[in-house]
Amino acid sequence: MADIDRARLLESVPTELFIGGKWAPARSRATFEVVDPASEEILVRVADASSEDGIAALDAAVDAAAGWAATPPWKRADLLRAAYDAILARREEIATLITLEMGKPLAESRGEVDYGATFFRWFSESASRMHLEGAYGTEPGGGYKIMTYKRPVGPTLLVTPWNFPLAMGTRKIGAALAAGCTVVIKPAEQTPLTMLLFAEVMREAGLPDGVLNVITTSDAAGVVAPIMADPRLRKISFTGSTQVGKLLLGQAAEGVLRSSMELGGNSPLLVFDDADIDAAVDGATMAKMRNGGESCVAANRIYVQSGVLEEFTRKLAERLGSFRTGHGLEEGVTLGPLIDGEQRAKVVRLVDDAVDKGATVVMGGEVPSGAGHFYPPTVLRDVPRDAAMHDEEIFGPVAAIYSFDTEREAIERANDTPYGLASYLFTRDLSRAVRVAEALDTGMTGINRGVVSNPAAPFGGIKESGLGREGSSEGIEEYLETKYIGMQL
Ligand code: NAD
Repeated sequence: MADIDRARLLESVPTELFIGGKWAPARSRATFEVVDPASEEILVRVADASSEDGIAALDAAVDAAAGWAATPPWKRADLLRAAYDAILARREEIATLITLEMGKPLAESRGEVDYGATFFRWFSESASRMHLEGAYGTEPGGGYKIMTYKRPVGPTLLVTPWNFPLAMGTRKIGAALAAGCTVVIKPAEQTPLTMLLFAEVMREAGLPDGVLNVITTSDAAGVVAPIMADPRLRKISFTGSTQVGKLLLGQAAEGVLRSSMELGGNSPLLVFDDADIDAAVDGATMAKMRNGGESCVAANRIYVQSGVLEEFTRKLAERLGSFRTGHGLEEGVTLGPLIDGEQRAKVVRLVDDAVDKGATVVMGGEVPSGAGHFYPPTVLRDVPRDAAMHDEEIFGPVAAIYSFDTEREAIERANDTPYGLASYLFTRDLSRAVRVAEALDTGMTGINRGVVSNPAAPFGGIKESGLGREGSSEGIEEYLETKYIGMQL
């Protein structure tokens, strides 16, 4: 078990709304349950915001906007850096909370805290630089002067999913705050606690009132829509399903809001005959099993060239067989539960459908009895093109193996999807590696590695996987607009 006292942590975690720097219950006093997906026990109840609470949070962000935009960049940078240190100082607490509400093993939660915190380090370093980006010069006809500079877009709404309760928030908050935007964040209803604790950490680190506001609700649609319709809101940044992303883009069109969308994926992972098979198995294991497969960049389709199909399949099954399922706070557990019953039912449906259509179960596939939304590590081979899991995110620990013969076939099949988030390929041939990486229609490609996330790299997708990038120098651009001044001197 973890060192943190679970009961004490749950007693101390904030459960109210964080608006204008203060904790307050929902106006209606309503609350909703947060459940441990491994035990199905209720952890605590948190405030259930209504649309009025949502607008109150926007009021606070609007009130704080001018002051935060005018705060000297070094001061903002220092605050972000202090927040980075403060998150790491509370690493065990935050990690334990992530495991309790989301289910992933504690070691992975610690990894998420480190990854999530790094966005504050990264953006603290850029906070003072981007304000000097711009141009001053004479227009080509010689008539007058052109001056440009960057300024924050203004009050921003952030909506995040449950699979990385801290990092999906900090990836946005770090960039927004560095750029000088104030925010309202609505975390997923399954995992609100991490963001609430994070807000308290930020408050203690000295963040001015109203710069960050957190609203938790069981009625995402009812609370988000009125904020989206308010003309004071200038930007939406969303991470979640493509379906909800499209809905929010429709709402954003009304107010012509700047929009960043990190949406669903359907990542292919290609293993060529000339790959280092052990390295490919390592990479595929990371790309498949990280976060229990509940990741937008999870390897959803694994394409293996026929010459190495048997060896790769056998070794991957051996590796996935070594995972230990259980409560994420227990020592030695490497695979937690799925987030809820709905997600598990989806995985069951996708596996049953693939098997009905001709896939072979190499291992796993049996739903365990007892409490918790567990699903075992599973390997399927000979998955047919018409299986639903070819087109839908599995979001579970199920490796779906397809085979191919030629490089061209591999590329065509990898690109046979409306999504374009991540892709992975394994080969020892450098020319092939670059050629195939360039041919894959995804925002990100890993060559001989199964993880691509890094705060210094632009994370994001093309096609229906999204708009915009998070992290890197591009991440902050999402929260800035260019102001041009034409000067007749
Ligand atoms: P989801 O779209 O159901 O929910 C995401 C967020 O949107 C939650 O906060 C939810 O409360 C909110 N929401 C739901 N319906 C809404 C509505 N009608 N109006 C406003 N807000 C609404 O997604 P999920 O199941 O929580 O997350 C999994 C999805 O997120 C997967 O598709 C995954 O690929 C994607 N994801 C993408 C990235 C990325 O960076 N591209 C990262 C993580 C997850």
